[in-house]
Amino acid sequence: MEENHKKAGGRLCCLCNRRRAALKRPKTLEQICRECFYEVFEEEIHQVIVENQLFKPSERIGIGASGGKDSTVLAYVLSELNRRHNYGLDLFLLSVDEGITGYRDDSLETVKRNEIQYGLPLKIVSYKDLYGWTMDEIVKMIGLKNNCTFCGVFRRQALDRGAALLKVDKLVTGHNADDIAETVLLNILRGDIARLSRCTSITTGEDGPIPRCKPFKYTYEKEIVIYPYDMLTYAYFKKLDYFSTECIYSPNAYRGFAREFIKDLERMRPRAILDIIKSGEDFRISMSTKMPEQGTCERCGYISSQKWCKACILLEGLNKGLPKLGIGRSRGLDNNHKKDVKQSNGTKNIEGKQCGSLDF
Ligand code: SF4
Repeated sequence: MEENHKKAGGRLCCLCNRRRAALKRPKTLEQICRECFYEVFEEEIHQVIVENQLFKPSERIGIGASGGKDSTVLAYVLSELNRRHNYGLDLFLLSVDEGITGYRDDSLETVKRNEIQYGLPLKIVSYKDLYGWTMDEIVKMIGLKNNCTFCGVFRRQALDRGAALLKVDKLVTGHNADDIAETVLLNILRGDIARLSRCTSITTGEDGPIPRCKPFKYTYEKEIVIYPYDMLTYAYFKKLDYFSTECIYSPNAYRGFAREFIKDLERMRPRAILDIIKSGEDFRISMSTKMPEQGTCERCGYISSQKWCKACILLEGLNKGLPKLGIGRSRGLDNNHKKDVKQSNGTKNIEGKQCGSLDF
């Protein structure tokens, strides 16, 4: 058998040393077979879950599902691990419909198929129902500048509201190692030390309504997704049904440069992604760095470090036909109309992926 593999010209898997290698693992550059790839891919995620105590038995867990590759693979792997290792979790899919014709309507069809394929109940919350606006309508008013700020702020709150409706204990999102490294870099470039300190946390929002965790914190995007020239990935091997078109309103040039930079580094040295995350983890906040104090929005009751949460400020601007009110530093929207409402309540919402070409 082994002879046959060698005669066929293929190398043997360096893990099992029995089957023919089917891919070079992007994370380690090891030549391994499909079966070993599934095993290490899934078991690494299991280890991350166990070591970080992400879940407790009988918890209700919402999976932020956009239909994209990360959240689709997350839903699949989490269902598998939940069964295999008896986590005892109740899993749910939670999607946000931003109201983007030709993009989210199509990707939600994928999530609806995933609901049946994985047997997980699905809840969809929409911007139209929550805020009275679709992203199509917002872009019509504001154009293609700052649209992702509106979308990112609204999505964050929409996910929390959907999670509350599902009565879940935690939300998991498909942020992968590349996303986190990219966010570390962006927070450094923007001098946002407060966010830098928490963007590498595997669980965030423990002081808020529903904590969020990232089981893919150390999972390389290349191992999840299909690349044009590299078809040998988990989603491809497992023939998972996901949606891969980018949002039609996706500008985000700055984030795009950071992403490309990280891809270049990874090509030269695959460990670069893990090292950037490690650097982010090791940053210590000096005592003089002022951290925003969390309270609740006086208007809608959502968590906020200002009198009004960012979503309410943005919404007020939209409803008054003055959408720039909520962008950057703006005056006049606190109770007394006297104080500045600064960006610290969310405009630089780069803790997670803003863009969902991308997942949540
Ligand atoms: Fe929303 Fe992402 Fe589209 Fe921006 S690119 S409008 S954040 S879905």
